[in-house]
Amino acid sequence: MKFFKLTEYFERLEATTKRLEMFDILAELFREASPEDIDKIIYLSQGQLTPPFEGIEIGMSEKLLVRALSEAANTPTKKIEDLFRHTGDLGLVAEKLITGGQKPDVAQVYKELRTIAETSGKGSVEQKINLLSSLLRGVSAKEAKYIARFVIGRLRLGIGDPTVLEALALSEGDRGLRPELERAYNLCSDLGLVAKTLKTKKIEGVRKFKVHVGYPIRMALCERLPSSEDIISKIGRAAIEAKYDGFRCQVHKDGERIEIFSRNLERTTHMFPEIREAAKALPVKTAIFEGEALAYNETTGELLPFQVTIQRKRKHGIEAIAKEYPLKFFAFELLYADGIDYTEKTYLERRKKLESIIKDNPVIEPAEMFETDDPKEIYKYFEEAVERGLEGVVAKRLDAPYTAGSRNFNWIKLKRSYKGELADTVDVCVVGYFMGKGARARFGIGALLGAVYEPETDTFKTVSKIGSGFTEDEFTELKKMLDAIALKHKHPRVDSVMEADVWVEPKYVVTVTADEITRSPSHTAGKDSEGVGYALRFPRAVGFLRDDKNPEDANTVKEIIEMFEQQRKVKVT
Ligand code: AMP
Repeated sequence: MKFFKLTEYFERLEATTKRLEMFDILAELFREASPEDIDKIIYLSQGQLTPPFEGIEIGMSEKLLVRALSEAANTPTKKIEDLFRHTGDLGLVAEKLITGGQKPDVAQVYKELRTIAETSGKGSVEQKINLLSSLLRGVSAKEAKYIARFVIGRLRLGIGDPTVLEALALSEGDRGLRPELERAYNLCSDLGLVAKTLKTKKIEGVRKFKVHVGYPIRMALCERLPSSEDIISKIGRAAIEAKYDGFRCQVHKDGERIEIFSRNLERTTHMFPEIREAAKALPVKTAIFEGEALAYNETTGELLPFQVTIQRKRKHGIEAIAKEYPLKFFAFELLYADGIDYTEKTYLERRKKLESIIKDNPVIEPAEMFETDDPKEIYKYFEEAVERGLEGVVAKRLDAPYTAGSRNFNWIKLKRSYKGELADTVDVCVVGYFMGKGARARFGIGALLGAVYEPETDTFKTVSKIGSGFTEDEFTELKKMLDAIALKHKHPRVDSVMEADVWVEPKYVVTVTADEITRSPSHTAGKDSEGVGYALRFPRAVGFLRDDKNPEDANTVKEIIEMFEQQRKVKVT
């Protein structure tokens, strides 16, 4: 496929305000793509060069793009900066200045972008600029617009993974294929690979997908219930584990080769030298296991709060910070060991094997666990756990498999609830913002429009307007980050009755607390036939925009309704 053709699809995707039309356009694109191109087309449409776990980033700033444009168009940087100030979009600037006539293939453009990404080390900045300017010089105006947006991470198409899966199934003329595509995706976390397999080996090939060491498995997530009684009546006798508050890590061991992936499947191996070393020593050749890494006090053995653990999140000076804040790793799941896929085995089988592999290791130990069918015992342990600074407990169904990429009652979390506050925080996806009045007006932003996710329709439904919990500096930073992903109209995957002043691509997640959930006609989450949905009452942000969660990791509409029901139950009794 010609790259020009792909940019025509991008244009159509950008113009649509209708969700179903978006699926149709994507399905048409996937149908037209050759098996050689399809993976690249999927990565590029999602603003990436590879699946996130490969960690390949193009690493160009606006400044470098300005210089590349200046070289490519023989125009002084000053003029480009002026145009940028005027339009706020370097894509439009590129479109205006670049007038080449060549029409390269998608594969060619992709290859050159990858070369730019892989150029590193001394003198690489100049090299990157040269490579980009020569790529831009040849192409047409429209292609330049999208290349420019792509290299600085501002494609703004908002195509999430579920959208791609849905469109892939549609492209084969059978929406019923979606669950099988999803299963394969959950095991390899690489949509390009799934799509390529579908194109070359049809759905039979997709059915043969297996766990592979080195390809992250999409992580299982917890449901929630308000009490230990509810837990036992839901799943019966259960395994009760401590809920640690640190970094979730999925460790892949292939002999001496260790890789570690974060919750949203980014490669974080470099952050954890001591876990890497400790994993090498385990008595298995290959393994995949999960757990939580936490800072702890070596003298007292005390676990430290997340605010301390987070200090370990950095690119440089890892060794020094590792000395200052050593980590413990509490392993809670075994997914694979020496050729055997444990994701399909029961919790008890996984745990038994996990305990046989992990013992007498200085850094890695199995998470605390006991079995019970007595709610009182759970509650007692829960109280102690909270007292010790843990977050609560996670109850696990004894006979359940590890359900990759899904949130269900095989795992149930129980956290402390405070009076006048929801039992748990809610993660919302930011879909727009409001300018703000009075004192706020001077920041140009006063509140965010937050939405929860509805997997059934792959849409975001609004649930809250969040105006507190941010400092003045944070508001300024928010505006900058959100303006960079601003859209001309509401994104087709967003359902809202409120009119935001500025709409943005669904990209960032923010965690909020609230006093309670109420019914409200102003929001679309869980809207009934009378147009009344659910809303968070007195929402406030805890922390800033999160980069460890994808938009689809926001809480779901179903969860909001469940939280609403639970809060009613708690009030009655
Ligand atoms: P939450 O983010 O509140 O939905 O809780 C789920 C998270 O708890 C997981 O993603 C893990 O990072 C973390 N966690 C801590 N301890 C455990 C455990 N024993 N089992 C499963 N998840 C745990």
